[in-house]
Amino acid sequence: MATLLDSVGTLTGVGPKREKALNDLDIFTIADLLAYYPHRYQDLAVKGPSEAVNGEKVTFKGLVTSDPVVTHFGRKKSRLRFRMTIDQATIMVSFFNQPWLGKQITMGQELAVYGSYDQPRQTLNGMKVIAKAADDETGMAAIYPTNKAIKQKTIKELVDQALQRYDQALHQEVIPQAIRRRYRLLPHYEVVYGMHQPINAEQAQAARRTASFEEFFIFQMRLQLIKQMDARQQGRPVLFNNDQLKALISTLPYELTSAQKRVVNEILRDMRRPLHMNRLLQGDVGSGKTVVAALAMYAAITAGKQAALMAPTEILAQQHAKTIGSFFDPKQVRVELLTSSTRASERRQILADLLAGEIDILVGTHALIQPDLAFHNLGLAVIDEQHRFGVKQRSTLREIGMNPDILAMTATPIPRTLAITAYGEMDVSVIDQLPAGRKPVQTKWLRKSELDEQLTFIKDQLAAGAQAYVVTPLIEESETLDVQNAQAVYQDLAQTFGPEYKVGLLHGRMTNPDKEAVMAAFKANQFQVLVATTVVEVGVDVPNATVMLILDADRFGLSQLHQLRGRVGRGQRQSYAFLVSNPKTQYGVDRMQAMVKTNDGFVLAQKDLELRGAGDILGKRQSGVPEFKVGDPVADMQMMTIAQEEAMQVLDQPDWDQDPEIKALVELLDETMARYRHFD
Ligand code: ADP
Ligand code: MG
Repeated sequence: MATLLDSVGTLTGVGPKREKALNDLDIFTIADLLAYYPHRYQDLAVKGPSEAVNGEKVTFKGLVTSDPVVTHFGRKKSRLRFRMTIDQATIMVSFFNQPWLGKQITMGQELAVYGSYDQPRQTLNGMKVIAKAADDETGMAAIYPTNKAIKQKTIKELVDQALQRYDQALHQEVIPQAIRRRYRLLPHYEVVYGMHQPINAEQAQAARRTASFEEFFIFQMRLQLIKQMDARQQGRPVLFNNDQLKALISTLPYELTSAQKRVVNEILRDMRRPLHMNRLLQGDVGSGKTVVAALAMYAAITAGKQAALMAPTEILAQQHAKTIGSFFDPKQVRVELLTSSTRASERRQILADLLAGEIDILVGTHALIQPDLAFHNLGLAVIDEQHRFGVKQRSTLREIGMNPDILAMTATPIPRTLAITAYGEMDVSVIDQLPAGRKPVQTKWLRKSELDEQLTFIKDQLAAGAQAYVVTPLIEESETLDVQNAQAVYQDLAQTFGPEYKVGLLHGRMTNPDKEAVMAAFKANQFQVLVATTVVEVGVDVPNATVMLILDADRFGLSQLHQLRGRVGRGQRQSYAFLVSNPKTQYGVDRMQAMVKTNDGFVLAQKDLELRGAGDILGKRQSGVPEFKVGDPVADMQMMTIAQEEAMQVLDQPDWDQDPEIKALVELLDETMARYRHFD
C-alpha cells in the first residue's frame, strides 16, 4: 500500500541521480517532499497600477503603446523600454540586459509583464513576459529552494505528482481536533494544498500559520516524549544528609542570595526523587553558580556518591578545583583535577582512586569523558558553561557513569522561547539576582583616539589598589597574529604602567602550567594588569579586578562582550568596562550602544537575537537547536509556547496514543522514537 513513508524514488521520473539530488535537499520520503514547502510565491494575479504596492512584485496586463527602444551602455549592458497602457493608466516598462525581447514586442500588442513596481517613477521593472496571461489568470506560483542538481520546475512537477498519488493519505490529521478548533487551525489536507498551490496570498498565509503550528507541535511532542523517556529511566534517589549540608552552608564566607537558596532547593528536590535529574541552571555572569554546584555536589557526597564537574577550559577547571576545594575540609572531601595536561602517572593514580571511590569530586575539562575513565559511584555530573560543549559531549558525560543526575550551568542567558526550543527536555532553574552590594559595572564606549586619556584613569584605579584586565582583539584568521598582537600590547602597557605596576600576559599558545601560574599570580595581585586574549572570557574570577578594557571591541559578539565585562564587578568596589572601538558597520555601532545601555544579560541576549538571528546565537550545530522549515521560533514565540503546553497536555492523557484520530501523528512519532533509541 502506498504510504507517505514511501521513498521519493517511487515517483515517475525519479531515477537514481535525481533521487540523490533530492536526498541532498533532505527529501527521502513522500512525506519529506510534501513538507518541502515553497519559501515564497510569485503573485500571478493581474493587477492594475492603482492596486499595486510600491516595490512589490506584480503582474500588469495591458496594451503596448510605444515601440520598444533598446539603449546600450557599457559593453554588455542594455535597457529596453516601452510604454504600456493598463485600464486608463500609462506606465513605463523597462527590462535590463534582455535586448532580444525587443524583437518580440510590438506596439499595439496585448501583453502581461511580471516585475516589481516603482510607484514614484510609474515604472515596472520587468522580470519576465508572461506568454499567456488570460484575464482570469490567478494564483501564486510557488518558488522552492533548490540546489544546482535539481530545477524549480522538477520539484513542482514531483510535488504535483505526489499530491495526486497520495491524496488519500493527506486526509489524516496530525493535530488533534480539539486543538485545531481552539486555535482555528486548518485541516492538514488544506495546509498541504494551501502551501504548495495557494490561490492567493491570504490562502498561502493561512496555510503557513497552521503549517508552523504543526511543525512546532510535532517538535514539542518529540521533545516531551524524550523527556518522559528520560524521566522513566530509573534514576536512583540521592538521599543526602540535610544537617551536613546546612553545616557546610553556615561555613560559607557569605550568605547565599535568596535566588541561590531557591535554586539549591529546586536541585535538591530533584535529586531526592527516584527520577533522573536533567536540570539547566541559568544565571548571569557573577550570579554565583559555582557555590550552587558545590552544594549540589556535596549533597551527592553525603549520600555516599561521587560528583564530577566539567568545564570548557583548562583555566576554568583549575579555578573551579581550587574554589570548590576551598569550601571543604580536605580530610572529609577529596577534590581532584584532571585535564589533558595532567601527567600520565598522576592520571593513572587518579583513575585508580576514582574507581576505588576514594575521590569525591573530580573536576576537569573534557578529559573527563575519556573512555577509560570510570567512577565508583557517580551520583551527579555538573557541566559548567554548558553552551561551550557540543550536544554530543554533554550526552557522553551522562553515559560515563551510571546515568548520574545532570546539572548543566550556563551564563548565556537564553531568551525564553529559545530555551524551550533548545533545552525543552530540561528543567530550568534561574538565578535572577546578583549577590548584594554589587555595583553595576559602568560601561563606556570610546574611540581609539580617546584611549590615552582612559589609561590615565586606569592608572588611578591601580593606585587605589585595584587590578585591570586588558583584552586584545580576537584575530579569527590566525592564532599567531592573535598572540603577536597580545605581545605587542603587553610591551606597550608594560611601558605605560611600569615600573610602579606590573603587567602580565596570558594567551592561548602558552602551556597550561604557565597559564595557571599567570592566573594564580594575578589573583594574588602579584601583578596589577593582565593583558590577555579571550582566554579570560569564561568564568575567571578575580574579585579585586575592577577594570576591563577591551580593544577593538567590535570584533566580539554581544554575548562575548557581556561575558568579558562579567569578569569585573565581582567585589564591593565600583567597576568599569571600556570598549575601545571604531566600528565600521551599523551592526558594530548597535552592539556598542547595547552594551553601554544595559548590564542585563537577558536583555542583551534578546538584542543579540534580533541583531543576529537564532541560529547564530547558540551556534546551530553546537547547541542542537533544531532548524525549523516553516515556523520561526523567534518571531512566533507565542505559538511555540502554546505548542509546548498543548503537547504536554496530550501526553498527560492516559492512552493518548490509542486515539485513532491522530494515528498519523502516532506513526510519525513512533518512527522518531525508534531513531532516538539508537541515538549516539
Ligand atoms: P558565575 O555565576 O558567573 O559562575 P561565580 O560562581 O564565579 O559566578 O561567583 C562570582 C563571585 O561571586 C565569586 O567571587 C563568588 O565568591 C561570589 N559570590 C557567590 N555567591 C555569593 C553571595 N551569595 N554573596 C556574595 N558573594 C557571592
Ligand atoms: Mg561560572
